[in-house]
Amino acid sequence: MDAIGIESTAHSFGAGMVSKGNVVSNELGMFVPEEGGIHPRKAADHHAEIAGGIIAKALVRKPEAVAYSCGPGIGPCLKVGLSVARYLGIRFGVPIIPVNHAVAHIDIGMKTTGARDPVVVYVSGGNTQIIARQEGWRIFGETLDIAVGNAIDKLARELGLEHPGGPKIEKLAREGKFIDMPYTVKGMDMSFSGIFTHAKRLLGRHPPEDVAFSYQEHAFAMLVEVAERALAHTGRNEILLVGGVAQNRRLREMFETMCSDRGAEFKFVPPELAGDNGAMIAYSGSISKIRLPPEKGDYFQKLRVDSNIAELFRP
Ligand code: AMP
Ligand code: MG
Repeated sequence: MDAIGIESTAHSFGAGMVSKGNVVSNELGMFVPEEGGIHPRKAADHHAEIAGGIIAKALVRKPEAVAYSCGPGIGPCLKVGLSVARYLGIRFGVPIIPVNHAVAHIDIGMKTTGARDPVVVYVSGGNTQIIARQEGWRIFGETLDIAVGNAIDKLARELGLEHPGGPKIEKLAREGKFIDMPYTVKGMDMSFSGIFTHAKRLLGRHPPEDVAFSYQEHAFAMLVEVAERALAHTGRNEILLVGGVAQNRRLREMFETMCSDRGAEFKFVPPELAGDNGAMIAYSGSISKIRLPPEKGDYFQKLRVDSNIAELFRP
């Protein structure tokens, strides 16, 4: 099927199309806050402003369905996505398909890597979860406070680096030396706020590249530890890394090492489909059974990867 997907959960507004399961377009605009984190209203205004231009570029064929991110995310941003999806559905006379954003990250990772039954490490600006299939997707471990991507972006902001901070911290870290930092794993869960507070205090006393390097080493080691334990608990032998932070080469290297030591396979989503994007929503929608009349639909800010969307949208 030819489907268009609309992504608007947080900082990015994206639209992309899949045709017979393959990505044929993927356009994106990112809201970059002047200072601080994402202001919901400002991000939503940004999305509404650029939506038309992004969709015009992404719409490379006539869609047979319009998929949209129905959560989790920022309310006003989700609302823009839903409005746009409804309009497109009515305009083309096709159904709309609500898509769980977290599941879309996993679906596109499975599709592009051929992973079969992995422990999924979902690391992004707003989420940090270790997930595996048990009937539906089940969360085995997660952050107890901020997401790892958010922790990296916050450190970058302290260093005066522009959003998104991930690539800049990664580059800076290449020259760094090791300093001890807090390492917080509680059972299967992780915390990243302590390491951030600690790192912030070290700035000015240590070279930024040492702080950046050590920050990555500690935060990523937590992810690898919990993921390895999830492999052991679930008896799986495959890791799939998805989400924006999956673009980090050092993180991938650490997973590669852990997996090869255990004789497990390591797979990661291609960088161009790692961060929030419309194509992954289109793909996830194209394999969904849900179809709604275009004037319907809804969104859920607090949706989880294990939420049953079919149940939520039952007529
Ligand atoms: P997402 O929320 O999935 O769109 O991912 C965005 C997050 O990925 C932001 O927190 C970025 O800083 C982070 N990110 C992007 N590239 C990298 C990278 N090379 N290393 C670490 N984090 C990254
Ligand atoms: Mg995301």
